[in-house]
Amino acid sequence: MIEPGKVYLVGAGPGDLGLVTVKAKALIETCDVLVYDYLANPALTAWTKRGCELIYVGKQPNHHAIPQEEIENILVEKAHAGKSVVRLKGGDPFIFGRGGEEAERLAKDGLPFELVPGVTAALGSAAYTGLPLTHRDYSSSVCFLTGHENPEKHTPRIDFKKAATAADTLCIYMGMGQLPRIAAELIEGGRDKATPVAVVQWATLPRQRSLVSTLNEVAQAVETAGLGAPAVVIVGEAATRAETLGWFESRQLFGKRIVVTRNRERAGELTAKLTALGAEVLELPLIKVDEAPDGDETDGVFRELHAYQWVIFTSANGVRYFFDKFNRRFKDLRDFGGMRIACVGKSTAAAVEAQRLMVDFVPEKATAEELAEGLLRSESLEHQNVLVVSGNRNRDALVKGLETGLAIVDVLPVYRTELSDLREDPAAADFREHGADVLTFTSASAVEGFAAQARNLQMAESATRPKAVSIGPQTSAAMKAKGIPVDAEAATHNLDGLVEAIIKLLG
Ligand code: SAH
Repeated sequence: MIEPGKVYLVGAGPGDLGLVTVKAKALIETCDVLVYDYLANPALTAWTKRGCELIYVGKQPNHHAIPQEEIENILVEKAHAGKSVVRLKGGDPFIFGRGGEEAERLAKDGLPFELVPGVTAALGSAAYTGLPLTHRDYSSSVCFLTGHENPEKHTPRIDFKKAATAADTLCIYMGMGQLPRIAAELIEGGRDKATPVAVVQWATLPRQRSLVSTLNEVAQAVETAGLGAPAVVIVGEAATRAETLGWFESRQLFGKRIVVTRNRERAGELTAKLTALGAEVLELPLIKVDEAPDGDETDGVFRELHAYQWVIFTSANGVRYFFDKFNRRFKDLRDFGGMRIACVGKSTAAAVEAQRLMVDFVPEKATAEELAEGLLRSESLEHQNVLVVSGNRNRDALVKGLETGLAIVDVLPVYRTELSDLREDPAAADFREHGADVLTFTSASAVEGFAAQARNLQMAESATRPKAVSIGPQTSAAMKAKGIPVDAEAATHNLDGLVEAIIKLLG
């Protein structure tokens, strides 16, 4: 008999990935089966290991939820099959998350389980609107309530008249559908009609929206503002503080949708800068980089490594894939030999140094021509064996330049760049449907990639037409050549300059 696997009932927090606990993350990364629903941030599924089975049990396209018993059956069945199962829930599993029922079922079936708490929506809403749930001056108690009357009548209906004065601060989950009635009952139950109320929708996410009103006006205010579920309604004096202590929604790029068109491997830095300022970032992976398969020439080069006097790396990708190939063949770093190393660009050199090899030459300007000229100025390469490690594009200028100095050049392509297929990409689908406020371009090749994919990026009629921002003159020229108008160009040609240009453009 197979030893049953363990089931982890795990809280995923309210949405911001930074609020997932370290323990939850480790479990998601190692589980065999992940069972999740719509309130858990879908990006979490990307943390799973290869081969992990993903089971979505949230609302279906026809709006029917999977019955609770069926979800429990899935957990039981997978555990019996010896799988380690993570049942991921938005917020905390024991706060309106039916985690209690699932734990009871597992206990009844004698299956091993553990619980991992999460940041519940009310706590996320409070922190991300600057609303202190307790405060020495006006709140010494907090109460979590549900405004939802369970259609199956399993949850007892709350008497809001009684609950009205049960605590100084009331946090109402699932209350949006019944807000007029709930507010009226709270007033009837003895809460002043001028009591402040905050409503926070999609708390902690880039699409968070919130408002502050009073008990007798909140239902109208929510309707006017068009706020809906999922939202937490927070009643009590604390709610007024959201107006002065709110920090999340006041960040410079909050609420803006910005497209990053760099290659997926390199998008992270810009995305991090924009996200920190509150923007919602869509990464469009235009180009896919893969290791080039080994061929006869690869074997030849690695057999003769000691015969080269120079090796030239043209990109960080080249360094990475070269050493992947090298490490598969050799156990000893000394097999790299005594060749000297030149690099195009500082980030390429940094990638070499990360392998604990010192770089002998980096030209001032990061171009192939500069490298060839600079190297030839300081060295004679006559009859020297030079290895150029590259991708499948843009190496001719370098080879020609070196050959004018009578070097004997071998080229080893270690990776390939190809256009990615954006038809199936979720970020591209999101872009087609909703558009964005800004499109960013950080290189001419990203512009070309974007133009080549134009057909897969056609926006819907109702989508927001983005403005286009460029990192510098070369990129701008490439944009103009492809008919993309340049709405702004960075004054300093780096990522910080690009971010500044965006702020200025949208400001
Ligand atoms: N277990 C969850 C609650 C699930 S009940 C928790 O601990 O947070 C679903 C309700 O939670 C929603 O109707 C809404 O009231 C609230 N909720 C969940 N995520 C939210 C979010 N990001 N912003 C605001 N409310 C949220």
